[in-house]
Amino acid sequence: MAELLTTWFIPGKMHCNYFLELCSLVFMVAIVIAYYSRKKFPTAVFKLFGVCLISVTITISCDILSCYLLDNADRIPLFWCEAITELLYFSQIFCSYLLFAYIFYSIGKTLRFEPRYYLTIVPSVICSVIIFTNCLHHGIFRFVEIGSGVYDFEYGPAYFLLYVIAGLNVVSTVIYAITFRKSMHVKLIFVLFTVIALLLVAIIIHLFQPEHLLYGIVYTMAMVFIIITVNDPDEKVDRISKAFNNEAFVEYINNQRTERQRKHFIVFDIESFGMFNEKFGSLYANEVLSSIRKFIEGVNKKTYIFKTHSSRFVLMLRNREEQLQMVAAIRHRFSSSFNVKDKSIILTINLFYFENNGAFKNTDSYKDFVTRTLPTLNFNDSNFVELDAKFMERINRDRRIKEILEQCLREKRGLYMVYQPIYDVNNKEFNHFEALIRLDNDELGFVGPAEFIPIAESSGLANEIDYFVLNETCAFLARNPQVGILEVNISCAEFFNNPSSRFLKIIKEHNVDPKRICLEITETIAVKYPEKTKEFMADLGQYGVQFAMDDFGSGYSNIARFITLPFSIAKLDKTLLEESKNIKIFFDSAVNLFKSLGIPIVIEGVETETQLATSKTKKIEFIQGYYFSKPLKEEDLQKFLVANKIA
Ligand code: C2E
Ligand code: MG
Ligand code: MG
Repeated sequence: MAELLTTWFIPGKMHCNYFLELCSLVFMVAIVIAYYSRKKFPTAVFKLFGVCLISVTITISCDILSCYLLDNADRIPLFWCEAITELLYFSQIFCSYLLFAYIFYSIGKTLRFEPRYYLTIVPSVICSVIIFTNCLHHGIFRFVEIGSGVYDFEYGPAYFLLYVIAGLNVVSTVIYAITFRKSMHVKLIFVLFTVIALLLVAIIIHLFQPEHLLYGIVYTMAMVFIIITVNDPDEKVDRISKAFNNEAFVEYINNQRTERQRKHFIVFDIESFGMFNEKFGSLYANEVLSSIRKFIEGVNKKTYIFKTHSSRFVLMLRNREEQLQMVAAIRHRFSSSFNVKDKSIILTINLFYFENNGAFKNTDSYKDFVTRTLPTLNFNDSNFVELDAKFMERINRDRRIKEILEQCLREKRGLYMVYQPIYDVNNKEFNHFEALIRLDNDELGFVGPAEFIPIAESSGLANEIDYFVLNETCAFLARNPQVGILEVNISCAEFFNNPSSRFLKIIKEHNVDPKRICLEITETIAVKYPEKTKEFMADLGQYGVQFAMDDFGSGYSNIARFITLPFSIAKLDKTLLEESKNIKIFFDSAVNLFKSLGIPIVIEGVETETQLATSKTKKIEFIQGYYFSKPLKEEDLQKFLVANKIA
């Protein structure tokens, strides 16, 4: 060994200085071993980075070997030197291509079926063919005999091609990075440009002083730099349970097009984990989480286990059999106690399992489902619930409705208002109307507000809809002075953005008398945000805006709350018209209550002669329903008013 080393370092005999390259090689081998021995999140990016590490190690080995073989051409046939040099140039081109692929994958784009991908791969393939046929044409390099058995390396006329191709790969990477800069993490951009700068330095030095082998050290530096900045496998592992963490989960979901995504999910939460944590201490709780992870790995080693929140695990399995087997194993395990340290405790979990068969068409829908929908689902009486295909379809439809709503609000089309006349029994006229929103879309057809309003409310679009509705209805009131009072449904799901000032602004913009507007607020909102509702009503009430309590009797009616708020109309839900003894009793008492409070009543959903007669007997002041008219578009409403001699 010592002899070998001295031979290598004898000045004059060697063509190049191997020393730095040798150090780099030792370093790279250590990095490869460390990288593959650590727990790694199985994304394409991590796999690709593993390929990068191996390719760089091969490149450095070829570099050292080719110089060694050239120095020893008197003993080892020159053919070997030529073959290894060809491999060296090929792996250099390959490494520059890998850089491109790495960036591509890191930002979650699929390399498959992208025309640009083929454009970038074609020059590299042509160049590789030229490299591997160099022994025939010597276009890239050749060896010239300068003494007996002593050879020198000489560039061929097409040597520059290597720089051109490597340069092309680097340029396409940069163009790609600039194009998709918005989806790239700043760190990744920084890493990319640092790596390119490092490579440029090595190339320039090599151009002027070819005997200095610097590629190895530069590549090694670049790899170490990538590991510590953006590709550290430990960053994707939860410290406590050693399952993959939420970051890994989001990345996996984001890259679903580049991954062969697993479809069989199990999601479970440990009930009252916070309390458990407080009672027994975090060390004990951590131990429990870790033993859950170990248990799952014990059942099926191939399961992807993510701990996405403090006590929520998401498992992904390869097929239905594995999924069912895992559900059964978990059910069995959690029916007995966990013995950790000196304690033994029974844990209750809520578990969902489902198959994602195209229900999630994009990454947002996935994240939305796991982070928003799942936690809100009801478990009823079972703690182990299978979400069937129908449910998954529902999720998909909800998601699509949300996207379409966003688009409609942005493009200001697809959403419109209709108006339903309300009959004033005492004055025998139609002076009140209710404005109701409609959604008509090419893809989904007609979607009713009962379906899309709750979706809007749970996805932060309710305020936008409120503003849209108020704008439309104020414009309608301004165009139709014959319309007395217009009842307008509002969600006010986000009271915190202080909607009253914006509401007032809209009313003023249209120059409409605020007294003609009666905002309908549902019980749910009034009960959920009592203080905010009170403030909101006071803010607008001082300008004359009126308020109606909508759907009274449909939920759990908080009568005490109702009485304290300044509503001027009570709208009784159509369910109160049902033919049931108990409902009839409730209906009567509701009517009596509002009568004694002096609040006029609107009864909704009157369709038949009998219902009309009942309402009249109870002396209800206003009647709304298909008996008189369905909700109408503005022009049809105008015709209705003419026919009923209002206009
Ligand atoms: P709501 O405010 O209780 O509106 C009354 C609903 O009863 C309307 O349904 C109306 O078309 C329907 N209806 C009226 N008369 C009859 C009848 O005789 N028989 C039957 N079966 N139904 C009748 P629609 O338009 O589908 O609205 C459903 C719900 O969606 C509304 O209930 C309201 O809570 C919400 N909504 C409608 N428009 C808006 C809006 O502009 N903004 C907000 N935030 N919510 C709205
Ligand atoms: Mg209403
Ligand atoms: Mg109602």
